[in-house]
Amino acid sequence: MTNENFIKLSRIYEQSEKMRISLQGKKLDKMKSQALENPEQFWAEQAKSLSWFKHWDKVLDSSHPPFYKWFVGGVLNASVNCLDRHIDSDFKNKVAIIWEGENKESRSFTYSQLYGSVNKLANALKNLGVTKGDRVTIYLPMVPELPIAMLACARIGAVHTVVFSGFSGQALSDRVNDSNSKVVITADGGFRRGKLIELKKVVDDAIPFSPSVEHVVVLKRASNNIKMSPKCVWWHDIIEDALPYCAPENVESTHPLYILYTSGTTGKPKGVVHSTGGYLTYLYATAKWVFDFTTKDIFFCTADIGWVTGHSYIVYAPLMHGATQIMYEGAPDYPRPDRYWDIVEKHGATILYTTPTALRMYLKFGDSIPNSFELSSLRLLGTVGEPINPEVWMWYFKTIGKENCPIVDTWWQTETGGVMISSCSGIEMVPMKPGSGTFSLPGIDAVVVDENGKPTAADKKGYLAIRKPWPGMLMTLWKDDEKYQDTYWRKFVNNVYFTGDYALCDTDGYLWLLGRSDDVLKIAGHRLGTAELESAFVSHPAIAEAAVTSRPDEKKGESIIAFLVLRTEFVSESGQQLRNELVSHIKETVGSIATPGEIYFVGKLPKTRSGKIMRRLLKSISSGSSTIGDVSTLEDARSIEEVRQVYDDLHRAVG
Ligand code: ATP
Ligand code: MG
Repeated sequence: MTNENFIKLSRIYEQSEKMRISLQGKKLDKMKSQALENPEQFWAEQAKSLSWFKHWDKVLDSSHPPFYKWFVGGVLNASVNCLDRHIDSDFKNKVAIIWEGENKESRSFTYSQLYGSVNKLANALKNLGVTKGDRVTIYLPMVPELPIAMLACARIGAVHTVVFSGFSGQALSDRVNDSNSKVVITADGGFRRGKLIELKKVVDDAIPFSPSVEHVVVLKRASNNIKMSPKCVWWHDIIEDALPYCAPENVESTHPLYILYTSGTTGKPKGVVHSTGGYLTYLYATAKWVFDFTTKDIFFCTADIGWVTGHSYIVYAPLMHGATQIMYEGAPDYPRPDRYWDIVEKHGATILYTTPTALRMYLKFGDSIPNSFELSSLRLLGTVGEPINPEVWMWYFKTIGKENCPIVDTWWQTETGGVMISSCSGIEMVPMKPGSGTFSLPGIDAVVVDENGKPTAADKKGYLAIRKPWPGMLMTLWKDDEKYQDTYWRKFVNNVYFTGDYALCDTDGYLWLLGRSDDVLKIAGHRLGTAELESAFVSHPAIAEAAVTSRPDEKKGESIIAFLVLRTEFVSESGQQLRNELVSHIKETVGSIATPGEIYFVGKLPKTRSGKIMRRLLKSISSGSSTIGDVSTLEDARSIEEVRQVYDDLHRAVG
């Protein structure tokens, strides 16, 4: 798209209120209607982009809904699709992964080096007795050996389950036990914010409570002192004698590629199971549509591989497409709040895919930091994880993208495998509206419905639901088919998938994600999504971050409580005057119905380690509850302490 065109489009969003024409592009329209008319044929066409050992017999088996099976009878291997098929091409010596350490050290792996490492580790795991279907827990820091371990598991048909390396022994052993893992792959230590994280020690604490574990593979990363018990082997020792080629296991399309536990924003994490054929087909197609990957792209996805975004968009999608992927070890603001911009400049990233929470952190420090870096290599910006406040979107668009880069606001979940709602730069860009995910992807039948599952009228809020199965969908929750059905399929009838999110579809057909449906505030008979209200706070120049919750109120039903983080230059103004100003601001932007009952200025908000605000924590604080529920997905013990501190301070403040 030329610059001129894009600016023309970008002006359209400013007039979006006045627009009453269909904005969906012709090409996109055509693909969507093809998918709607014959979904099986549509997805089968996409599946042809992968390498299969054996073609499928049936595209979709829906004989036992909601246990849908994709590409039944098809046989393939994920590591072959990510590596082998590039090895015989010109890509052999192309860089697959650029790794950037927290201390600015860099390493890179070509496709052929990655292939070599994966094959060796795959053989080493086989030598330890790991066979097809066995589960392997991977508890590694963000180092290249983490994707290597995932792909080695995939090569031999073992099911990987990656556990975020900031988690405690308890969280680790819960996941190891739930998945009954035979092997745990870890490191002696890792680094976070300049500090050593003693991963092996955490594993030592967890293993006595995890009887299924036969071996612990230890990567030497930090060279800290550790104890090697009889179950432990060094990574470098086991690969030494391993043969350089491991024949890929032929796995059925429905063979589980991995189990991944959700972020736990709303409660106890769920063990989401993804298939091989359906998941990879969905990822391959949607990554092309959304990001328009070309072989020249240098893709910087800032997620941790401990979360689904890292699985799908650091490992499987970019590698299947033969792109170059940047993988960053550390925190966005360590040692200074400039790390992403520094990495974009250093490695010439063409696409940046990050989270609203990281952007809000950077925005808090103003424009001068990003302005001091050369960001002109960027051609596309992406966001994921939470609704992006329009104010933050504009900052991303102007300050980072210099009004030259379209933004793809991608809505999806661990359960969906890949992006479900987004604009599609690889099909055709449609006018953007800051804060809206735009449309569902071709083949995704997303709809906003009321309590009874009936589609709502335009501009009417409701629940986001998906009416048709899609290849990237989870197969079940590990060992819990009942919970799988309960959580996703029983809210509405006729096998409609319940996302748990609150949304609206505007008169142009654009979808707006409004937050979790169980976080909805019911104020004097009105239902307000948390995202609407939080974005209204963030649109005030003093506010960087906002989290709203409510407490019971005799008159209104519920009264709004806001927890706000100020932009750095406003910190000294956190008084009653600013509170009054904010109350007027909300009255003006949302209406007097949303007048906050109480406003608290805080230094930070409690978040999951994937960066999402845990509103349920704030809710228990403000409703005076003495327990704060499951906090296992908050980072390490120290962060739990920090959150407790925030909790206590807030509790005292709320009174
Ligand atoms: P849990 O299911 O354990 O509570 P979680 O839902 O936070 O955790 P994820 O699967 O990582 O775990 O997150 C998916 C959720 O993130 C979505 O349901 C949605 O609420 C939110 N989300 C993701 N992307 C976007 C986006 N672009 N806009 C709005 N919300 C988003
Ligand atoms: Mg969820």
